[in-house]
Amino acid sequence: MENAKKIKVRFPPSPTGRLHVGNVRSALYNWLFARQHGGIFLFRFEDTDKERSELKYEASIIEALQWVGLNWDEGIGKEKPGMKYRQSERVDVYEKYLDKLIANKKAYWCYCTKEELEADKEELIKKKLPQIYVGHCRDLESPPQGKEPQVIRFRTPDAKIEFDDIVRGHVTFEGRLIGDFVIGRKPGEMPLYHFAVAIDDYEMEITHVIRGEEHLTSTPKQILILRALGFDEPIYAHLPLILNANRGKLSKREADTALLDYRKKGFLPEAMFNFLAFLGWHPQDNEEIFTKEDLTKIFDLSRVQKAGAVFNLEKLEWFNKEHIKRLSIEELAKRVRPYLEERHIKAEDDFLQRILSIERERITTLAEFADTAGFFFSLPDYEPNLLVWKESDPVRTFRILTELKEDIESIKGGMNRHALGNALADIVLREGRGPVLWPLRVAVSGLKASPDPMEIVQALGGPESVRRIDIALEKIKAHMQ
Ligand code: GLU
Repeated sequence: MENAKKIKVRFPPSPTGRLHVGNVRSALYNWLFARQHGGIFLFRFEDTDKERSELKYEASIIEALQWVGLNWDEGIGKEKPGMKYRQSERVDVYEKYLDKLIANKKAYWCYCTKEELEADKEELIKKKLPQIYVGHCRDLESPPQGKEPQVIRFRTPDAKIEFDDIVRGHVTFEGRLIGDFVIGRKPGEMPLYHFAVAIDDYEMEITHVIRGEEHLTSTPKQILILRALGFDEPIYAHLPLILNANRGKLSKREADTALLDYRKKGFLPEAMFNFLAFLGWHPQDNEEIFTKEDLTKIFDLSRVQKAGAVFNLEKLEWFNKEHIKRLSIEELAKRVRPYLEERHIKAEDDFLQRILSIERERITTLAEFADTAGFFFSLPDYEPNLLVWKESDPVRTFRILTELKEDIESIKGGMNRHALGNALADIVLREGRGPVLWPLRVAVSGLKASPDPMEIVQALGGPESVRRIDIALEKIKAHMQ
């Protein structure tokens, strides 16, 4: 193996939108493969579509990769001398290879106009023939009189194009169904996408192309280009499609498709990483919760499935819950803070940690916690009526709250579930759970639906709970008059 080439993979998104979860899955498999083989993970931008490519999308793609923890070794921001990593900056490179192909007669100038091509296409449709270029300009001896060159076409041989794909096995395409496809435009113009990809993969010394199945039909074209130039093609692995629950294409209607939306919703990058790694692959045993480091050890490209992978939001929530449980309380507090700040919720560190240690088992996403936990940090205003249990009345409620306050004040030596249970045992036994726990819940949370009131009292601690009960007593007193 001494002379074996160092493994080099690439992630080449088009900056025409925010980073899609499907693309992140591809990036992640490339990253895992590179890391486990001590290889290089290269990141470049495929911006041949000038109209739709935007710098703001480049920035958001970079932000998304950084958030989920996919660092790269070469490419954007890590340029090797003499190499450019945006296709728009590589036009001269592509032209050099286009010239070579024309000189070798592997490609030719096509003079057909749009109208002529349209007419040919209609004819083919009528005859139920494959809609490929019919070949008017394929064997021209000299440019036709009075016509302008339009595009450069690749001379596709009438032969099979075969390759071995790590995921899909042996794959065969028929050259005669591909036809002479366009690889270039006029000098100085951006070349066509397939051409640029093939050239970049060669020039950047990519050993493995790991990408979504939607690119499978591009592969024979890219292979033809590389072979025509006398270059070896990389090894390909086409990853299964990501599907919705009905096994259709995953669309924005069923789930957020941009990675950073999941950050906004309060998913941990660890959970996202773990979940995406399982979209098309799973380890040999049944374990599911893994860190990035674990996955680097156990991921196996050769075990990636062919069948489409279903994107299941509940599964992602489960992964998130599990990863939340595995964070230290200090770390969890750090992760939650930006979500609280976004909602203008101020929280002391100690207090936040105490609440999280009680609430963490219940938290699905950090945003949901921030949405529902506001009452811990400041008591919402509520109607006095809310304090009264349905089978109780204001006078009884006042009496019960007064007694609850005394019981809580009587706890000496620290608040915990056991001490609280003991302190409230008598009143609950005498009055019943509803008439006691209902007003307590409202008093300490200001809400009608909240976590268990005993948990809230524990989290708030004695003095704050008592302060809130005092507010409830004031409210109910005013209500009784
Ligand atoms: N630019 C393509 C995309 O964003 C990547 C194609 C490839 O991996 O070859 O989908």
